[in-house]
Amino acid sequence: MQILTTIDDFRTARANARATGSLGLVPTMGHLHDGHLELVRHASAANGTVAVSIFVNPTQFGPDEDMLTYPRDVERDRVLLEEVGCDLLFYPPVEEMYPTGGVDIQVVPGKLAAVLEGVSRPGHFRGVATVVAKLFNIVQPERAYFGQKDGQQLVVIRQMVRDLDFPVEIVAVPTVREPDGLAMSSRNTYLSPDERSAATVLYRALMRAQELHLDGEHDAEVLRAAMSDVLASEPLAAVDYVSVADPETLEELVLVDSQAMVSLAVRIGGTRLIDNVLLA
Ligand code: AMP
Repeated sequence: MQILTTIDDFRTARANARATGSLGLVPTMGHLHDGHLELVRHASAANGTVAVSIFVNPTQFGPDEDMLTYPRDVERDRVLLEEVGCDLLFYPPVEEMYPTGGVDIQVVPGKLAAVLEGVSRPGHFRGVATVVAKLFNIVQPERAYFGQKDGQQLVVIRQMVRDLDFPVEIVAVPTVREPDGLAMSSRNTYLSPDERSAATVLYRALMRAQELHLDGEHDAEVLRAAMSDVLASEPLAAVDYVSVADPETLEELVLVDSQAMVSLAVRIGGTRLIDNVLLA
């Protein structure tokens, strides 16, 4: 695996990789877990070359968020990526991506970024869309892999690719979970043992909605209320939102008559966790 820390060096390595067919990109913020590695496995199965980026992007964090404390362990990440078949690791310092401290021209998502995560995290998807656009221009992948875990991010990126005509196929990878259902996340490392047990309430709430839907419940408000009841049973959980939305427009549904994305954001102590499931 080659490790490239500058855009120029990455472009040279990318040019040499062209002979090996398509390139699949997995953008990450590092501190890798099996969820990230599953994206790399998918990329490896479908492309001659796999590139992973590790970049804790300052512009997608709000002023009161965890940018400085976000967990980092690039040496461990390097070993994991070697094992799973990554060819090119793009690991730029902040000054390489933002030489003047930021960018004047940004990618600004519209209504898709105004709901759900966008309410609690204004500016988040602008930062995400801008850095993903930069990564697409630097890496020039044929395919890019994103986790269903961050369901709204996936919807925003798909729309950006459609609206701005990026020649990139976006591939969604199902959420990888711990044995008790908790979605793997770099932020799970913040949880104390008590909080870690309490955090299973997110998955239990999602499963309650899924069961009701399988039993024939189509009223979205009944599903939201059932999830809220499960979350209310956990004293350490403070709910940010529960949502039953159209998986493409992210508009809240009244009736679940075809597909839906059921999602939630919950604070467990000081840690904000998100998760979702798709109902078909
Ligand atoms: P992050 O490092 O948190 O920015 O995540 C990088 C990519 O990994 C994103 O596309 C995430 O959606 C994806 N990802 C994170 N956690 C999981 C998970 N548990 N299962 C599948 N994909 C994930």
